[in-house]
Amino acid sequence: MSENGKLSRFWIHELTRPAFEDWVDNDPTPVVVIGIGAVEQHGPHLPLGTDTYDAMALVHEVAKRSNSLAVVPCWPGYSPHHMGFRGTIAFSEDTLLGILMDTVGSLADHGVKRFVFYSGHGGNSQILNLAMQMAKRYHNVMTFYPRGPSSSETARKLAELSARYNDIHSGPTETAMILLHNPELAEMWRLDDWTPKLKLDPKLMEFMDPDREDYELVRQVRAACGEPDLDDYTSDGIAGINDPREADPELYRARFEERVQFYVDFIELWKTIPLPPAFEN
Ligand SMILES: [Zn+2]
Repeated sequence: MSENGKLSRFWIHELTRPAFEDWVDNDPTPVVVIGIGAVEQHGPHLPLGTDTYDAMALVHEVAKRSNSLAVVPCWPGYSPHHMGFRGTIAFSEDTLLGILMDTVGSLADHGVKRFVFYSGHGGNSQILNLAMQMAKRYHNVMTFYPRGPSSSETARKLAELSARYNDIHSGPTETAMILLHNPELAEMWRLDDWTPKLKLDPKLMEFMDPDREDYELVRQVRAACGEPDLDDYTSDGIAGINDPREADPELYRARFEERVQFYVDFIELWKTIPLPPAFEN
């Protein structure tokens, strides 16, 4: 529903056509929030759709607090590196790029000029960046992926988990996210005898120490040695060495809240800036 440009439902698929028209015609600067994720293995205990659930939670909350429209155009994303584990659906580069371009292009045709993005899956990043540039060029719209806040205490704690323990996939951070938003989908009992399965050269393991003086250098050398597929370096699909059972949903809740607020602040400020002339028409 939308009345005088004010939405009371925020998923595009829940609006009627007149409600969409009311919003796009009466909100002076309508913004669409597009989220993407993945359908890919997330260790033994998290749902295959973990990253898309992440995107759905964030974009819907942002839309709700900023009178924007939330769109998650597809469940899968770019996940060829997870295909060594069953249950993954990997879109090709062209498919994901096409979905993003068609989504933006359609809504641009119907009067939307401002699009913000969020991806719950790191593997989508380069394609999403390209889609944002291409949408700007070929659909004449403004596109942006706000990232922040990066210096809060919560952000620093989570960055530390990622740097020190490689908590980047199916570890405590993602587990906390599912325990917060979709607890009924986690199967924590599957981790009863869990031990880390990360297999790296011992020298590279030593490079996972953010306290080292040469950390900036060795972190990049470690990244340069990164193998292409998850099953190259983990046998159970969990990338890190910290125990997912130590997930802290409250830490994740704080992070979720500050990220949502960052998006909302971004959108509110952005809406005060008139459309630059090059984006007219
Ligand atoms: Zn994930």
